[in-house]
Amino acid sequence: MAKDYYETLGVSRDASKEEIKKAYKRLAKQYHPDLNPDNPEASDKFKEINEAASVLGDEKKREQYDRFGKSAEGFGTGAGFDFRDFSDFAGFGFDFGDIFDRFFSGGGFGSFQRSRGRRGSDLRYDLEITLEEAVLGAKKTVVIPRLEVCERCKGTGAEEKSDIETCKECNGTGFVKVTQSIAFGTFTTTKPCGKCRGTGSFIKNPCSLCGGEGRREHSRRIEIMIPAGVESGSRLRIQGEGEAGERGSSAGSLYIFLHVKPHEIFTRKGDDLYADLELPFVIAALGGEIDVPTIDGAKKLKIPAGTQSGTIIRMKGKGAPDLNGSGTGDEKLKVLITVPKKLSKKQKDLLKQFAKEDKKGILGKILS
Ligand SMILES: [Zn+2]
Ligand SMILES: [Zn+2]
Repeated sequence: MAKDYYETLGVSRDASKEEIKKAYKRLAKQYHPDLNPDNPEASDKFKEINEAASVLGDEKKREQYDRFGKSAEGFGTGAGFDFRDFSDFAGFGFDFGDIFDRFFSGGGFGSFQRSRGRRGSDLRYDLEITLEEAVLGAKKTVVIPRLEVCERCKGTGAEEKSDIETCKECNGTGFVKVTQSIAFGTFTTTKPCGKCRGTGSFIKNPCSLCGGEGRREHSRRIEIMIPAGVESGSRLRIQGEGEAGERGSSAGSLYIFLHVKPHEIFTRKGDDLYADLELPFVIAALGGEIDVPTIDGAKKLKIPAGTQSGTIIRMKGKGAPDLNGSGTGDEKLKVLITVPKKLSKKQKDLLKQFAKEDKKGILGKILS
């Protein structure tokens, strides 16, 4: 990782914050390991990009880097920025928004470091639903085992409030200042306090229920509203329903990955639903009203006289609603005309008579 950070991101040295953000977004998308499963180099490149953005995206760090280069303390993987936070997103599709908020929000890394404990982990739950539930929406209950804030100590990890002692080394901030002498002078950075391991306090008497962890595993029933129109691969994010954070930090998110079971009648393409409609030849010829299946139950459908095999009958608005609110799909029924396999003597005679009526047509010739 000896490359120049500006070179890594392909931006000029006087690039604006916005330009750096743009370059990072573009490159991170290109090299994200999830999108390059067969390319081990992509993962290294991804790390380089993140490292470069973590410095250039932060005004203070960028200034230091511009002045002192990479040899200055605090740059490089691990120092100053915890790359484990990226792995939290692995498998969750990589939410750029979240990461950018951390990079480019006013305080940059400083504010991120100052939080007492780590944000709770995100959780993934794979949920199988029926096509009906996907198209019409549904309320489902799932049971998620997760770490929750300990009910006894309310997350502090201490038996009593008075059992928490502020760290004198860092005055409870969790961070200590480090002044570095370098070739051209000195500069000051902060690093996690070694004495309290960045927590800012000591617990004299740990909570008897959680042993000082501040969190406990619970199986929690969570109600999930599935919006109408979702499909296989849709992902729902429920903020704050992941694992509890450490020491009162915010909880992670729960991601519900939806899988739609195959349906015995319908197949879905986009927002439209397709099915075959078996139609007795007499109804096809004479027309009539029949019951046809729709995703929310049987509906009456008028069949016009003379309906041909292969005709697609469209039932407007009987498909799936568009998730973005732009209309609803249709149900499309493909007519398959059925012919009775067994006929009574009388039915045969009637059909022959019917054929004879068709004097000019093909039937009349064959049967006469
Ligand atoms: Zn506890
Ligand atoms: Zn401390």
